[in-house]
Amino acid sequence: MNIQPTYSSLDYPGKMALVLFTPGCDLRCKYCHNPQLLKNQELTKWDIEEIEEEVESNMDFIDAIVLSGGEPLLHVDEIKNFIKQAKDSDLLVKLDTNGLHPKQTKEIIKDIDYVAMDIKAPLDKYYKISDVYPNNTKELITETINIINDNNVFLECRTTYVPKLLEPEDIAELTKNLNCDRYTLQQFRNRVTLDANLSNFEEPNPESLKTILENLETNIPEIRLKSRQFGNQLIKSN
Ligand code: SF4
Repeated sequence: MNIQPTYSSLDYPGKMALVLFTPGCDLRCKYCHNPQLLKNQELTKWDIEEIEEEVESNMDFIDAIVLSGGEPLLHVDEIKNFIKQAKDSDLLVKLDTNGLHPKQTKEIIKDIDYVAMDIKAPLDKYYKISDVYPNNTKELITETINIINDNNVFLECRTTYVPKLLEPEDIAELTKNLNCDRYTLQQFRNRVTLDANLSNFEEPNPESLKTILENLETNIPEIRLKSRQFGNQLIKSN
């Protein structure tokens, strides 16, 4: 199967979810923890039927499906099948996206309950994280955020903090005028990384990440930190 289904109580806060990891992505983040998913592959009719059966037979145990990857919006026509099945069954739907696909976001946003979107770096500094990114990254991500907000869908923005690739000033810059409901800074983990050199980087100390977040000047209502040591921590809320 070209989609990896996994059950998780962490990917949709407070809910038990079936997470669907779809193949392919248009970025190459140096810290990517799912490098096996970066090669794009077609989702076949068989993939779709298998997942639909998986959802059907576990309907009583899950509250939600999470469309993740890779970048799920590379397969927007196929994932519409899962979204329809979830909505017909009163399940919630969360989308994890890199924010580079506003057109596809617009096609499905009315049926999405929660979006978690990566903001890798200040929008004009994606070169710090990925060797590959569209020239109009800033415009694409801004448009995606506007579509999500115009549809009143809960938006969490997330950044993975990798020392040597990002500075505290980058987090201050990218959150300054970010229009989202929740911002989460994620501690870099050095176990599996696309760029093997990053496995020699130390994982940042959660206390130093907390200090970065406490010093932010932003109107985002909720600020969180995700770390191996302390799990998902609320740092600030309005
Ligand atoms: S956007 Fe996600 S899946 Fe794509 S390369 Fe970056 S970390 Fe990996």
